[in-house]
Amino acid sequence: MTTAIYPGSFDPITNGHLDVVIRAAHVFEKVIIGIYDTPEKKLMFSPQERVDLAYAAAKNTANVEVQLYSGLTVAFAKKVGAQVMVRGLRASADFEFEFDMAMMTNKLAPELEMVCFMASPQYQFLSSSLLKEVARLGGAIDDWVTTNVAYAVKEKVKNLK
Ligand code: ADP
Repeated sequence: MTTAIYPGSFDPITNGHLDVVIRAAHVFEKVIIGIYDTPEKKLMFSPQERVDLAYAAAKNTANVEVQLYSGLTVAFAKKVGAQVMVRGLRASADFEFEFDMAMMTNKLAPELEMVCFMASPQYQFLSSSLLKEVARLGGAIDDWVTTNVAYAVKEKVKNLK
């Protein structure tokens, strides 16, 4: 059985992330969305909130799980017995970062294979940070996230005011 982890901040999970999750779940027997607890980013959601939102968004895909992790992603991969690390690649933003990540991962854990899924055309420009920015400025976000994520983002924005 091939198990893949899909690690990231997921602050919050978007339809672009979900598109990668669903496609990966067609290829690998098990996909674990790994929510990294303390990324060096200004976050809107707590680790548990990010887990809960990802869980609700992905719960209809049978072979997908969500787990919170801290520390090295390669250690998390080892702990859950993953052979593959999935990442998403948007045309303009991601290549250099993901390439460096793949090189470093290969140094740290040569047995862990990194597989990148090209972002689907409709999600090429979508990032969690842009989504939060649009929401803060009062723009519509409903096309880019699930209903429960849209609600959670709007509640956070309301409480910021
Ligand atoms: P990180 O904080 O590691 O950048 P993110 O949670 O933003 O993590 O994203 C996790 C992974 O999902 C990364 O590989 C990122 O490139 C990918 N990703 C983010 N947004 C999209 C999108 N719209 N389409 C496809 N992949 C995406």
